[in-house]
Amino acid sequence: SVCSRVVVVTGANKGVGHALVQAVLDRDSSAFVFLGSRDVKRGESAKAAIEKHADRVHVLQLDISDAMSIVKAVDEVKRTCETNTRICAANAEKPMYALVNNCGVFLDDDYEQTLNVNVLDTHNVTEAFLPLVGSRVVFVSSASGPMYVNNLSKKGQAIFTSKDKSWEDIEEIIAIVKKNKGVLESGSNAIPDHLEGITASSSQWYGLSKACVNLYNMHLARTHPSLKVHAYTPGWVATDMTLTKFGKRDGMITPQKAAITGLKMLYEELPGNGRFYGSDG
Ligand code: NDP
Repeated sequence: SVCSRVVVVTGANKGVGHALVQAVLDRDSSAFVFLGSRDVKRGESAKAAIEKHADRVHVLQLDISDAMSIVKAVDEVKRTCETNTRICAANAEKPMYALVNNCGVFLDDDYEQTLNVNVLDTHNVTEAFLPLVGSRVVFVSSASGPMYVNNLSKKGQAIFTSKDKSWEDIEEIIAIVKKNKGVLESGSNAIPDHLEGITASSSQWYGLSKACVNLYNMHLARTHPSLKVHAYTPGWVATDMTLTKFGKRDGMITPQKAAITGLKMLYEELPGNGRFYGSDG
C-alpha cells in the first residue's frame, strides 16, 4: 500500500518519541515515519524494535544542535518523498503531513544546553522543515512550562501569557538569561523594564525553556494559520530522562500510554491553534 501521511519525529530513538512512532504506525496504515535520531546506530536499533511496520520507517540522522545535520535531514526527507515508491504524498510541494518536535533535554547543571536544545535548536529545526509541512506541527512540551510561569510575579506571568510574542522576543528572553549565566532574580537591574518579572535558577531552567517553547508554539500558530500547531505535555513518563533523574516513581506512565496524547495532537480535529494540551495518558 502507498503512504500518504509522512511524519517526521525528532529524538525518536527512545522514550516518548519512539513510542509515538510505534503508535502512529499501529494506528495509521497510510503513515510513513522518519525516525529522527542524532546517532544513526541508535536509530537503526530503534527501527528494528518496531518489527511489524519497519518497512514504513526511515531512520533520519538528525542532531538538531547541528546546522549541517538539519540541512541534510531536510534534503533527505525531500528526496525520499520524491523517490520512495511507498510514499505518495497528497501534496508533492509539501510532502510532510506533520513535524513532531519531540527531542529535549532536562538538565539542571547546564542552562545553555537546556535553552539551546529545547528552544533555539527546536526553533531552527522547525523553520527548516516548515516549507515541507502541509498540515501539523506538534511540540512535545511539558507542564513544567506553565508551572514555571505560575510561580512568577504578575508581571512575569503577563510576559509568558501574552499572545503576541515574536520569535525575537523569545530570543531576547534567552539572551538575558544567558548573559546572566542562568541566574535572574526579581528586581535585579540586569533585567530591562519590559522583561521585569522573569526569574531563572537551576531548578527553573527546564521550566523556563518549556515556557519559551510554548510562546514559540503560539507564535508559529499565529504566523501559520493554515497549519494546525499545538504543544502538549506527554505527562509524567518513565523514560531515560526521568528514570535517571528521579528513579521509578508513583504516577509515572509508560511511553506507550503517553503516546495517546501524541496521537490526539496528530489526528484529532483540535479546536483553535497554538494551544497547550494536558496529558490524556
Ligand atoms: P529521553 O531522554 O528518553 O529522550 C530524548 C530524546 O531526545 C532522545 O532520542 C535523545 O537522543 C534526543 N535528543 C536530545 N538532544 C538532541 C539533539 N540535540 N538532537 C537530536 N536529538 C536529541 O526523554 P523523553 O522521551 O522523556 O522526552 C521526550 C520529550 O518529552 C522531551 O522534549 C521532554 O522534555 C518531554 N517531556 C518528558 C516528560 C517525561 O516525564 N519523560 C515530561 C514532560 C515532557 P539520544 O538518545 O541521542 O540522547
